[in-house]
Amino acid sequence: MFIFSLQMANYRNYARVGLKLDRGLNLFVGDNAQGKSNLLEAIYLLSTMRSSRASTDADLVRRDILNSEFPVARLACEVDRSAGNLQLEVAVVGRTTDPSHRAGKRVRVNGVAKRASEAVGQLAAVLFTTLDIEIVAGPPLLRRRYLDMMISQVDRGYLRAMQRYAKVLPQRNSLLKRIQNREASATELNFWDQELAHAGGIIMQARADALGHLVPQAAFQMERLSDGMETIEITYKPAIGHLDDLDCPIDDTEWTARMLKALTTLRSREIGAGATLVGPHRDDILVEIDGMPADSFASRAQQRTAALSMRLAEASYLRKALGDDPVVLLDDVLSELDARRRRGVLEFFDSFQQTIVTTAEPDRVREVMTRASGRFVVVAGTITRFEGE
Ligand code: ATP
Ligand code: MG
Repeated sequence: MFIFSLQMANYRNYARVGLKLDRGLNLFVGDNAQGKSNLLEAIYLLSTMRSSRASTDADLVRRDILNSEFPVARLACEVDRSAGNLQLEVAVVGRTTDPSHRAGKRVRVNGVAKRASEAVGQLAAVLFTTLDIEIVAGPPLLRRRYLDMMISQVDRGYLRAMQRYAKVLPQRNSLLKRIQNREASATELNFWDQELAHAGGIIMQARADALGHLVPQAAFQMERLSDGMETIEITYKPAIGHLDDLDCPIDDTEWTARMLKALTTLRSREIGAGATLVGPHRDDILVEIDGMPADSFASRAQQRTAALSMRLAEASYLRKALGDDPVVLLDDVLSELDARRRRGVLEFFDSFQQTIVTTAEPDRVREVMTRASGRFVVVAGTITRFEGE
């Protein structure tokens, strides 16, 4: 799929911008703090209905109008998809004084109002940023987010299970605390165990399934980018315990059963802790480079290549799951790569319908400049197309 038109109004540092994007490679050049990342964040938000940077909805609204009566940021795009053209609109209401107006996001898909969760993944996208190295070097939360953002785009059931899980977990935790304080009886846990394990089973099954595609793809990309010098191994580490017999795929009911068993085994410890100790909210994926855990042994360059391989694998996963190309967003990542890796990334995305690249250093990415079908300059929240170099 590819985006052919994009509008932003009162969004971040953009007052009002309308853009026609090209199929193929689009390059956005601009100095620091002009709005390049904001642009890609806008596209990623239209895809996932979430900001790629930790922020509140109010942060997305242009600061100058935040104190106006009805501060709203608006994003819209039109997408050419193999499943039919798509028109997406998101209005982010930053703050309301009038109680009949609700803060938050309003979404329209092809003109029809939808819940944000129903609009996730209508536009599929994969976003590369300079922070991606943290997927490999950072805490497990970031690896779970990597899986969640990707799987939610293609699997509505996953998103629903995630939402259910996020609702049940705090309720179960507060019950555990009440049991600890002898304000409730342990038998009340049975219901919440079932609920949690049911949603958990769906989540773990989908994660294992996605990794089934990601693991060989990431390995292939790592080998390609490092010219066969480095290998990556990725292993799912579900918090409910090691799965010795993971060779044979198991279905979500089996995952649910295993989670229930883990909850039963841990019951007294969980009551003691007043918290749920196992389940998808504590899952991790182990990333190893040349057989050693990447977070504590690998060099920064190795970690970066590993993270890059995982993002490339993500793009390939989305393509396979959708039967259509996700839009590829590269935020300032090419200039930090050496020529080989840069070529490796660009060649891979040659076969994708649309790639959108930002850079502050066009001289470092000359090959993108020459290949690009659309070239744009970003200056202080304005975007203009330019021809030639
Ligand atoms: P860099 O090359 O440093 O990555 P960039 O072009 O990617 O720069 P952005 O991250 O897109 O820059 O940010 C551009 C500017 O947008 C920043 O100066 C930031 O302060 C501003 N900005 C962010 N949020 C808002 C907002 N809600 N209202 C107005 N301006 C904002
Ligand atoms: Mg930026």
